[in-house]
Amino acid sequence: MKLIFLGPPGAGKGTLAARAVTMLKTPHISTGAIFRAAKAAGTPLGLKVQAIMDAGKLVDDSTTIELVKERLAQADVEQGYILDGFPRTIPQAEALAEFSTVDRVVNFDIPDSAVLERLGGRRVCQKCGHNFHAIFDAPKTEGVCDHCGGEVSIRDDDRPEAIQKRLEVYRAQTAPLIGFYRRKGLLLDVDARPAVEQVIENFKKALGQR
Ligand code: AMP
Repeated sequence: MKLIFLGPPGAGKGTLAARAVTMLKTPHISTGAIFRAAKAAGTPLGLKVQAIMDAGKLVDDSTTIELVKERLAQADVEQGYILDGFPRTIPQAEALAEFSTVDRVVNFDIPDSAVLERLGGRRVCQKCGHNFHAIFDAPKTEGVCDHCGGEVSIRDDDRPEAIQKRLEVYRAQTAPLIGFYRRKGLLLDVDARPAVEQVIENFKKALGQR
């Protein structure tokens, strides 16, 4: 199944996608993770996107579209994928329609107040990418990942100014995709406010797998 995970920053798309990958046995493609890896490795792409990401802004459409187009041309995604963080603009969605046919778009719905609470406390392992929360799900030893021993720290774009910017960008550029995909009859709404396990249940119900 070819799925898009849509929702504001902090809706939990990355965590849910990691769970859904095991359930559906399809690759998880996160444009944010690809950009972060490029940034960490200091590749030309990473150098290009670094400042844009840290400010909470969007990478330009043509760079992002080209990246996803190349990724979706690989054999492992022929039967399905979970696209997390793409598309984020109407031009990206229109471009995607030219090189892939999406089955469902899952809209993870959550109010801004919950987003601010989640992202303000989010801490990420720089080695394995596991997400923690400073208050609700802190690592056993501060700053050290329970799973791989890597360094746990705040994401550059989870700083307060960047969070505000990302929410503004989401409202202006990404939220219109909800109507875009609803009109195409592809949208499934999932309440993303509860804890992960419950959201997974909501997601399964929406997909009609229960
Ligand atoms: P994410 O991990 O999905 O929150 O993405 C982190 C950052 O990567 C975003 O704030 C953007 O700067 C960049 N990014 C990720 N996906 C896209 C996209 N589809 N279009 C433009 N920029 C993106």
